[in-house]
Amino acid sequence: MADLVYLGYLLAAVLFVFCLKMLCHPRTAVRGNLVGATGMLLAVLFTVPRILEVGAQSEGTLFSKYGVLLAGVVLGSAIGATFALKVRMTAMPQMVALFNGFGGGASVLVAGAEMLHNLGHPVELSVAVATVASGVIGSVTFWGSLVAFAKLEEYKLFRKPIRYPAQQPLNAVLGLVALVLAVLCATNPDQPVLYWVMVLVCSVLGLTLVNPIGGADMPVVIAVLNSYSGLAAAATGFVLNNVVLIVSGALVGASGVILSQLMCQAMNRSLTNVIFGVFTVEEDAAKADEVYRGKIKATSPEEIAMLFDSARRVVIVPGYGMAVAQAQHAVSDLARHLESRGVEVEFAIHPVAGRMPGHMNVLLAEAQVPYDKLKEMDEINPTMSQADVALVIGANDVVNPLARTDPKSPIAGMPIIDVDKARTVIVVKRSLSPGFAGIPNPLFAADNTLMYFADGKKAILDLINAMKQ
Ligand code: NDP
Repeated sequence: MADLVYLGYLLAAVLFVFCLKMLCHPRTAVRGNLVGATGMLLAVLFTVPRILEVGAQSEGTLFSKYGVLLAGVVLGSAIGATFALKVRMTAMPQMVALFNGFGGGASVLVAGAEMLHNLGHPVELSVAVATVASGVIGSVTFWGSLVAFAKLEEYKLFRKPIRYPAQQPLNAVLGLVALVLAVLCATNPDQPVLYWVMVLVCSVLGLTLVNPIGGADMPVVIAVLNSYSGLAAAATGFVLNNVVLIVSGALVGASGVILSQLMCQAMNRSLTNVIFGVFTVEEDAAKADEVYRGKIKATSPEEIAMLFDSARRVVIVPGYGMAVAQAQHAVSDLARHLESRGVEVEFAIHPVAGRMPGHMNVLLAEAQVPYDKLKEMDEINPTMSQADVALVIGANDVVNPLARTDPKSPIAGMPIIDVDKARTVIVVKRSLSPGFAGIPNPLFAADNTLMYFADGKKAILDLINAMKQ
C-alpha cells in the first residue's frame, strides 16, 4: 500500500511540474491550472489510506478519529469555494495574500501539533530543525500576509506605510531573538513552550516587517510571502515525512522567488530594497497642482474618432482601471473595429500593470484578444515613436515619465511604457486621481496628450459609437 501511495504522490508531483510549465504561456495556462488542480486532488486522495491507517491504530469513536478532520475538510472547502466564486478579478492579489497566509498558519499549527504528538519520544535533529523552520517561516508568512491583505484592501489603518524610529534595529533585535529561540527550540524538542514563544516573536516580526512596506512594492511582497508559504509547507513536509508536501512546497518556494525577482526587475528595485526600504511619496516629490495647472486638454469621443480616421498604427495600453471598469470586451471590440478599417492595433503590456502579474494578459485573453497582439514592454518600446495614437486605458504608474526623469520619485528607475513618444496620447480615466503609487503623472499635462475623462467601459463604448457615425 505504501508503494502505491508514493506512486500517487510522484504522479501528483509530476503534474505540478507540468502545471507550472503550462502556466508559462497564456495559450496553455487554463489547461495548466486544471493539471495542477488534478495533481492536488490526487495528492489529497492518496493521503486517505494513510489517514485510515493512523485512525485504525488509535483508540476512540469514529467521530473522534475522523470527525474533526472531516469538519476541517468541509469548512476549508466551503471557505475556498466561496472565496473563489465571489472574488472580483481586481481583488485577486488580496486573495492570494490570504491564501499564502493560511498556508503559513497551517504549517505552524501542523508542525506544533506534531511536536506535541512526539513528546516523550526521541526526535531526530533534522525533524526538530524542520519543525522550527515551519514555525518561524509560517508565522512570519501568516501575519505578514494579513498585513498585505489589509493594505491591498486599503483598510484605513494600513493605507500608509507605518514608520517609527529605530524600525530596522527593532526588526533586527526581533530577528535575533527569534534565532536564539529557534536554536533553543531545535535542541529542546521536548519543550513545546519554547516553540510557541518563538511563534509569538516571529508573528510580531511578520507584522513589523510588512507594515512599513507600501505602495507599488506590495506585489513583490506578496510574491515573497508566496515563496515563504511554500518553504514553510516544504519544512512541514519534512516534519511529517510527506514527499508530496516537500515537493509542492519546494515548487511554490522556488517559483515565488523567481516571480519576486522578475517583478523587482520590472520595477528596477532590488529585493532587499523592497523588503527593507520604505516606499513612500517624498515630501519634495512633484505636487499634482504644479504638474497639471492650466495644461490639461480634455477631449471627446467624437474628436478621438476623427483622430482614429487618420491613424495607421494604434497601441492600446491597458492598466488597473480597465480591470475596474471591466472594459476588456469593449476594448477588444474597439481593436477589431479599428482593424476592420485597416489600422494596425497592438496591446502594450507592462509586467506590473494592474494589481497582479499577468493581470492584463488574463483579462484580454478572456475578451478573445489574440496573444500575438499582446506585446511586452521591451518589444513595444523601441517602436512607440512610430505609433500614431497611444490609447492608455486605466493605466497610470506604468506610463508615468517621472520614473525616467525624477530620481526622487517613488517609482524612479521603474521601466515604463514610453507612450509619451507616440504622436498623440489619449488617456482614458475618470479624473486626475493618482494611481497606486500615489503620485501625479506629467504625461497627462504633456503637449501631445488628450484626456478623455470617463469610466473606462463607457468611454470605449461611446468611442465605438462615435466611430460608427
Ligand atoms: P494605476 O494604479 O497606476 O492607475 C490606475 C488608474 O486607473 C487610476 O489612475 C484610476 O484613475 C484609473 N481608473 C480606476 N478606475 C477606473 C475606471 N472605472 N475607468 C477608468 N479608469 C479608472 O495602474 P497601473 O496599471 O498603471 O499600475 C499598476 C500599479 O499597481 C503599479 O504602481 C504597480 O506597481 C502596482 N501594483 C501592481 C501589481 C501587479 O502585480 N501588477 C500588484 C499590486 C500593485 P481614476 O480614479 O481617475 O479613474
